[in-house]
Amino acid sequence: MNKYLEKTLKDTKKKNKAESEYLQAVTEVLTSLEPVIDKHTEYEKIALLERIVEPERIISFRVPWVNDRGKVIVNRGFRVQFSSLIGPYKGGLRFAPSVNQSIMKFLGFEQIFKNALTGLPIGGAKGGSDFDPKGKSDNEIMKFCQSFMTELYRHIGQDTDVPAGDIGVGAREIGYLFGQYKRIRNAYEGGVLTGKGLEYGGSLVRKEATGYGLIYFMLEMLKANKVNSLKGKTVTISGSGNVAIYAAEKAIQLGAKVVAMSDSNGCIYDKNGIDLKLIKELKEEKRARIKEYKTTHASATYMERKGTNSPIWTIKTDIALPCATQNELTLESAKELVKNGVIAIGEGANMPTTPEAVEYFLSKKVLVAPAKAANAGGVATSAIEMSQNSIRYYWSFDEVDKKLENIMKNIFNECKTSASKYNLGNNYVAGANIAAFSKLAKAMKAQGIV
Ligand code: NDP
Repeated sequence: MNKYLEKTLKDTKKKNKAESEYLQAVTEVLTSLEPVIDKHTEYEKIALLERIVEPERIISFRVPWVNDRGKVIVNRGFRVQFSSLIGPYKGGLRFAPSVNQSIMKFLGFEQIFKNALTGLPIGGAKGGSDFDPKGKSDNEIMKFCQSFMTELYRHIGQDTDVPAGDIGVGAREIGYLFGQYKRIRNAYEGGVLTGKGLEYGGSLVRKEATGYGLIYFMLEMLKANKVNSLKGKTVTISGSGNVAIYAAEKAIQLGAKVVAMSDSNGCIYDKNGIDLKLIKELKEEKRARIKEYKTTHASATYMERKGTNSPIWTIKTDIALPCATQNELTLESAKELVKNGVIAIGEGANMPTTPEAVEYFLSKKVLVAPAKAANAGGVATSAIEMSQNSIRYYWSFDEVDKKLENIMKNIFNECKTSASKYNLGNNYVAGANIAAFSKLAKAMKAQGIV
């Protein structure tokens, strides 16, 4: 391996021993940059890699709140402001019990590259809390969001840092967070958060954007590899949250048959094609478990999740879309999918496929649409929401959707061009890393040692 790369990786591992997800993300990106680093020997002198892996700022704070029974609960809040190289810090907030500094840093690091790929002026960040929204009343969610924002507000702003949603943070949470921010600041800074409700500054298509964008990217990737349409293709999608639901919606619109979806407890398989209206009702309105699908669709099969591997990946499919969480698709599952004839993987979640599984897919000539590129539609539409907030004018659904589709096509072309430039064939995983890094490296050189 290139000596400079090797040394940076070794030092990063030494400094961040306990942060496995963060180290996984850094290793994945850096190892794919070898041909670029070999060519640009000047990067070492300006410590370009050492700077790109070190967050500009990490904020960690106490979030005290009182539950419905009068008990005081203390959670931990985070905001990792990773890079402001090409725009204000931008990235979602995740509320889940598994949240820790390693997960925040991995997501923030990925976000820098993803945002660079969109071609829009946004830096990289991520935040959240180990708060678990499951089973909490609306009142408890509001209390928590208000306490969280009472600290976060001093670190964000529409030209400084613009959070959005992620796991456990949807329209309801963004509403409560925005209300508290506005109250404290006594100013209507519409662009301080994205994913807002349409009544108060949100953008059409933001809700659908990550899932739709994933399918737009998938279609471009398939077309570049002689598969011209999604018509008649079988699709399985893990998760049944924001990304999964709208990936399913667009896939169905384009003629695919989505036969399985899941949640953290298990998955539903419906050979007739998933009833998406019911999934939306269960997940967006009732906040119920996916198992309940069977109550009205007796012919569907429910498979409970037992160990690390989700049962959804044992189902035969042409296209698999992991849209739930990190490291959810293991080598063992990858082997099952390949055995069953999968042709393409589209990462809707961040880092959902383990490194061994990605390597296996690539070795078996399965196309992989990497998360940083394929799920960038959400943040791209967030940037479009920011533009609309600035000009105080709102575009129609079709106008925003068209912009999103064009952005996803451009991102795919960048991944493809970079992969070909370095003779990497259709390895779009490396292509995405190289395309994003090349842009960031130029900006870093231009801005001096900061
Ligand atoms: P949601 O909270 O809306 O949905 C998450 C889904 O994943 C739920 O179905 C949830 O099931 C499932 N899930 C969560 N944790 C696990 C787990 N440990 N094992 C199995 N299933 C799990 O989140 P989003 O749809 O917004 O986000 C999903 C992924 O997409 C995340 O990786 C996120 O970072 C990424 N992403 C999201 C974007 C967005 O715009 N929202 C943009 C880009 C990336 P359950 O209800 O049982 O917990």
